[in-house]
Amino acid sequence: MDLYEYQGKELFRRFGIPTSEGRLALTPAEARAAAEELGGQVVVKAQVLTGGRGKAGGVKLAEGPDDAERKAEEIIGLDINGHVVRKLWIERASEIAKEYYLSVTFDRGEKKVLFMLTTKGGIEIEQVAAETPEKLARLHVDPLEGYQPYQARRLIYGAGIDDPNEQKQILDIVGKLYECFVAMDAMLCEVNPLIVTPEGDLRALDSKFTVDDNALYKHPGVAEMRDPEAYPPEERAAREKGVTYVKLDGEVGILGNGAGLVMSTLDTIALAGGRPANFCDLGGGGDAQGVVDALEVISADRQVRSIFFNIFGGITRCDEVARGILQALGEMEIGHPIVVRLDGTNAEEGREILADAGPENLHVEPTMLEGAKRAVELAA
Ligand code: GDP
Ligand code: MN
Repeated sequence: MDLYEYQGKELFRRFGIPTSEGRLALTPAEARAAAEELGGQVVVKAQVLTGGRGKAGGVKLAEGPDDAERKAEEIIGLDINGHVVRKLWIERASEIAKEYYLSVTFDRGEKKVLFMLTTKGGIEIEQVAAETPEKLARLHVDPLEGYQPYQARRLIYGAGIDDPNEQKQILDIVGKLYECFVAMDAMLCEVNPLIVTPEGDLRALDSKFTVDDNALYKHPGVAEMRDPEAYPPEERAAREKGVTYVKLDGEVGILGNGAGLVMSTLDTIALAGGRPANFCDLGGGGDAQGVVDALEVISADRQVRSIFFNIFGGITRCDEVARGILQALGEMEIGHPIVVRLDGTNAEEGREILADAGPENLHVEPTMLEGAKRAVELAA
């Protein structure tokens, strides 16, 4: 789950990481009131779950309340990478002498926590890694050993930060960020930029914070931070129904039972010359309710042109799945063509059931590749 900047900063503050004071505002009038309370120059920041807000015109300095109201009017409603701005964070403006970058994330390959620090902050880290990799200090933390301050020192020297005052503060921030990352079950905590003010104070000016969905039960306060309006309707429906759903950007909606089968289905669609619009994993099940829920979610995705239902009957028998599909289609209207591939236990019975009683838009294919080709054809 991704947090808004203002939510991530709230967690940063809880762990003692310095941030600027600010207020949330939903309207230009609230932005004005926030600027009045904060006093002086403020920065008006779009709160959307995507990066690059500055470049898109979603971050603007304002001289005072009047200006903050005007800037808020400009930013609310702005479309930033497909995210429409509905919330603003009004923050006391900082003077910036330097912009650094600091993040902590998982390196799955190494099975360790990874810190990255560079003095080339304020730009995308991918760009730093590609253009000036020597400027990017990376450091792994062994989960058994845990974090040790000497590691942060190595990171700081690696990034070429030689001012003792900055070193001391970054050492402190790195330790706190590690604490925050572990305690909140985060997958990513990114501070870009981590600024140095003209007085030499370090502060987190931005926050990108991702918490592991599977750990949310441990953090009810964070789970409540979720903003349902930030997600497209089918993602909201999937969450409510407990359907595993991942949005992609092609035309074929995919439904399968089991993660491995679903992954190979994606590949097969690509092999057949198509692109998946999304995928749902029914897990081991294939009961009617599960099928109805998944079909509802998939067909709510407006990019979907055809649906490929790929089932391998192992413990779940294909005849049961076939009945589930018929029941589901009896309960709902699906306009898209649906291709079903049934294989495994009782596959023939399952296919017969569908061939006899299935509606016209239902196409039954015996193999995954034939099913994929058919689904791609029907999406064209
Ligand atoms: P992003 O573009 O989504 O990463 O949003 P950021 O929060 O990182 O803001 C973008 C840029 O706006 C930063 O890199 C800063 O250069 C600038 N910015 C943000 N807040 C302030 C501020 O308080 N004062 C000044 N002078 N610039 C700011
Ligand atoms: Mn940023």
